[in-house]
Amino acid sequence: MKVMSCNAGSSSLKFKLYNMPSEEVICKGMFERIGQEMGNFELEYNDKEIEREAKFENHSVAVSYLLDSLVSEGIVSSLEEIGGVGHRVVHGGEKFAESIKIDEEVIKAIEEVSDLAPLHNPANLIGIHAFIEVLPHAGQVAVFDTAFHQTMEPETYIYAVPYEWYEDYGVRKYGFHGTSHKYVSLKAAELEGKRPEDVNVIVCHLGNGASICAVKGGKSINTTMGLTPLAGIPMGTRSGNIDPAIIEFISEKENKTVQEVTRMLNKKSGFLGVSGISSDNRDLEAAVAKGNRRAQLAMDIQDKKITDIVAAYYVYMGGCDVIAFTAGLGENSARMRKSICDRLSALGVKIDLERNNVRKKTTLISSDDSSVAVYLIPTDEEIMLARDTFELI
Ligand code: AMP
Repeated sequence: MKVMSCNAGSSSLKFKLYNMPSEEVICKGMFERIGQEMGNFELEYNDKEIEREAKFENHSVAVSYLLDSLVSEGIVSSLEEIGGVGHRVVHGGEKFAESIKIDEEVIKAIEEVSDLAPLHNPANLIGIHAFIEVLPHAGQVAVFDTAFHQTMEPETYIYAVPYEWYEDYGVRKYGFHGTSHKYVSLKAAELEGKRPEDVNVIVCHLGNGASICAVKGGKSINTTMGLTPLAGIPMGTRSGNIDPAIIEFISEKENKTVQEVTRMLNKKSGFLGVSGISSDNRDLEAAVAKGNRRAQLAMDIQDKKITDIVAAYYVYMGGCDVIAFTAGLGENSARMRKSICDRLSALGVKIDLERNNVRKKTTLISSDDSSVAVYLIPTDEEIMLARDTFELI
């Protein structure tokens, strides 16, 4: 059976088509600038790349265009071959601890938690509706970024604020990147030749958005993001955790609303805010090579916060077997991986410089006498969508 994974944003849609259960990738690609005057479409299959510009009025038009292309390129002979579509949904609130087959009730529940992810859930729903409309025979499955973290204990997810905020509005830590943390922790267990129940893994998902997760015996017991993806460690443009009183302080100093200050914490902070140059690690590394001290400071702040978290998780998990680096920075930046491992030397973590000289490839990067195995594990959220979809339908 062929299964499609779909990640819909407000003006974009990324997809990957798999043969299941072999997990062979048949094709992949994306749409950008859906709803604008001119959008673009990219499709890769069999070492062939197609790029087209066209107007895609909405997501349904884009999905129809995609399915027509799959047939006209001979990638599928009939749309009936596609038995399921797995949709990434950012927020599942407390309702969803696992992936689920989509029906009217599930759609309603996703709508209900949309106030917790107003930028993401409505866009994910648009993708779901587009596939239901254009591919009605296929089973549709929702895979939530928050679901993996539903195993956290109340002492971890309840904030020390008036309890009614939790009861009345669902204010608590949810955590995100769950699909990635799950994939990487499962892979780490496999690499160690152990069952997921028998390993403790700290996953460092470090991309433009970044979060760390403590996975004890296959279950998420803590993660750094919170009610929203603004919390936790500093990121490309997001501040991560700060003293909450800063919001009122800056709003008074600069005569800004709470929304305006929060937007600055989301869009103008992190690497970008501290360096004043860029949110992109590559630009910062290039600036540091030319002696830029604020670029160095931006990276040092992030490395320190990551180390603080890994050390804390290590302690309250009762030690860990694996530290895994993934996502854009985690998979590409030997500098950052070395910096973090060096800062963790008190725990007996030792990096092997030669092994660490690698990008985007599953690799053991710790030395043989390291107390913890450190791996680079490229993440693969799409395959998790396809696996859950195949299983559920
Ligand atoms: P992501 O959001 O997962 O795509 O990650 C984006 C981050 O990964 C950005 O900060 C990039 O600068 C960083 N990144 C991507 N490629 C490289 C590379 N070759 N070397 C260093 N950092 C990289």
